[in-house]
Amino acid sequence: MLKATVPLGRVAGIRIGVHWSALITVGLFTWMLGGALTHAYGGSIGAWLVAVAGASGLFGSLVAHELAHSVIARRNGVQVEGIVLWLLGGVSELRDEAPDAGADLRIAAAGPAMSVGLGAVFFAAAAVSAVAGGELVASALGWLAAMNIVLAVFNSIPAAPLDGGRILRAVVWRASGDRLRAETVAARGGRWCGGGLLALGAAELLVIGNAGGLWLMLLGWFLFSAANAELTLAGLRHRLGDLRVRDVMTADPVTVPAAWSLVEFLNSPVADTSHRVFPVVDADGRPVAVLSWSDVLRLPDTTRASASVGAVARPLPTTMRVGDEVLLRDVVARAVLRPNLDLVAAVGPDGRITGVVTSTDLTATCQRTALGLSPRPARTPVDHSKGSR
Ligand SMILES: [Zn+2]
Repeated sequence: MLKATVPLGRVAGIRIGVHWSALITVGLFTWMLGGALTHAYGGSIGAWLVAVAGASGLFGSLVAHELAHSVIARRNGVQVEGIVLWLLGGVSELRDEAPDAGADLRIAAAGPAMSVGLGAVFFAAAAVSAVAGGELVASALGWLAAMNIVLAVFNSIPAAPLDGGRILRAVVWRASGDRLRAETVAARGGRWCGGGLLALGAAELLVIGNAGGLWLMLLGWFLFSAANAELTLAGLRHRLGDLRVRDVMTADPVTVPAAWSLVEFLNSPVADTSHRVFPVVDADGRPVAVLSWSDVLRLPDTTRASASVGAVARPLPTTMRVGDEVLLRDVVARAVLRPNLDLVAAVGPDGRITGVVTSTDLTATCQRTALGLSPRPARTPVDHSKGSR
């Protein structure tokens, strides 16, 4: 979702990255806590050092919250792409949807549960510290406890994409057996809540004259647009129905062996086709990378003569290598997370490439189904009832 993240490392095998905008958040936390501490205990370097430690502790709490989602997701068979921290907190990037309503509920509830737990731990630590006479540290720990509880409460608002929205989705899903209806209910909640926060923030800013309203407005806007995107996606998933990748893919696609040199590629009949991007395959015919004309163009002439296709092509993300029997709606859900997607490589049970779905194919399929047309023009004989009208 967010590009240009700096990797922080791995915890429990889960990749954690940070977007530059998270620096603003840590700065804001430090300023908030430092302001409160220096107000109460006088401005000293010690107070600001404690504030920096407290802000880092809160940042760590955000990581723990996301890790809880990710670890429980993995335990429920959902693969995790990684965690990204940014301006408005953390995002766990999950590769698939939860297999059932119970798993959906567990994954969603894990985050707020972790925050409540951390709140309790920090509260206990604050109490111990206060008894021991460390008032400054006790105040910072108390602030950490309060912020974790605020985090848990805010995230539990029943509005997608907040955790509470996911919990609502899981509950409606279990009750109705209809995942799509559940998604729609949760996303509508998100729109209402986002709109409400926007209005509340605007009122705080304009009526009371408090600049903190800007923060609420930002949160509200984010929530509203994210909920809108989820609503669109839910409709899309509904329309794609039971379509599978093989129903829309271009079968037996033109491929480029990774072992080829660029010169070999440029002189081959493959380069004379009308395609813009090419799947790159290994010696066993498994898709490993994507080569586009712009990748080749980016190379200086001198390097172009000696480079191999494998060295120039961009690795294919594992999420964009899917079984040709996979439901297209699940692929679309993943593809929206990747704005620069070139193609999805479809593979058979042996891992060999069987087809490709380009981003243009995906868009066209979505638009055609929205218009009630068959998912793709009947260029090839249609052997399934869904494909014709
Ligand atoms: Zn969460």
